[in-house]
Amino acid sequence: SRLKEGLLKTKSGITDRVDHLLKSYKKIDEDLFEELEEILITSDMGVQTTMEIVEDLKERVRKEKISDPLEVKQLLMDKITEILEELPDSKINIEPSPAIILVVGVNGVGKTTSIGKMAYRFKSEGKKVLLAAGDTFRAAAIDQLKIWGDRVGVDVIRHQEESDPAAVIYDAIQAAKARNTDVLICDTAGRLHNKKNLMNELGKIFKVVDREYENASKEVLLVLDATTGQNAVQQAKTFKEVANISGLILTKLDGTAKGGVIVGISRELNVPVKLIGVGEKMEDLQEFNPQSFVKAIFG
Ligand code: GDP
Repeated sequence: SRLKEGLLKTKSGITDRVDHLLKSYKKIDEDLFEELEEILITSDMGVQTTMEIVEDLKERVRKEKISDPLEVKQLLMDKITEILEELPDSKINIEPSPAIILVVGVNGVGKTTSIGKMAYRFKSEGKKVLLAAGDTFRAAAIDQLKIWGDRVGVDVIRHQEESDPAAVIYDAIQAAKARNTDVLICDTAGRLHNKKNLMNELGKIFKVVDREYENASKEVLLVLDATTGQNAVQQAKTFKEVANISGLILTKLDGTAKGGVIVGISRELNVPVKLIGVGEKMEDLQEFNPQSFVKAIFG
């Protein structure tokens, strides 16, 4: 499947190394756990999350008197699934219709691409979709979104470069109401270098949404580039301070062996990963689901 293919590098970065490790041990000892810890940390699972996983495995091995190293793999799969399932629901909340999705994130992470892919996905499901070019600070961002809109066959509400982003969102909401749109997906500017600006700008947009689209189902999705590891964690922390993030989109997972970042980042921030990007094509945005993820990388 596309999911499995898109996660091949992560499979080699985690599973192949874990398999190799477990096969090289005759019995389960402290060294084995230390090497396992190393694999999880280098896959961007996060130090905290790794410690928790390894402690839990040690405990189970002791309690259940497990002696075969090969059995540790199933324990690891169970624990990762458990961690991911403890998070708030990873299903994207666009029911009932109408729905509005605000997409935030810094430039270059794959925001525009993810919006285009989402538009394609929802349209394929028979929904009426509209896009809003709320990143008015870069003419290129507006153009790029329009290109995606044309490609997918959905309209894009846009103003001139440097116009007020909140005004674009306002217009887009009026258009969505007039056209009975099911899902309005809004791009926003992500200039992290100035947190106060970002906060003001997003704050204005949220106000418009709350006032003009009170009854809509809402999502605020933060897009993060999975290949950037700790940088992505830092971005997520900053955005979480300025916005009520309801879910994450992790992009470019096809380009990294460090897909453990899905586990680490959602755990550390207590925000679920809702969608993952596993390629550059329209179909390459997948719904995230803990079991399918664990199956794709370990199965
Ligand atoms: P933005 O500046 O955040 O809007 O970023 P773009 O949407 O323009 O994406 C930046 C680059 O990342 C483009 O070349 C995209 O094709 C690429 N990209 C986005 N998502 C993915 C993904 O899931 N996998 C891969 N391989 N590339 C991606």
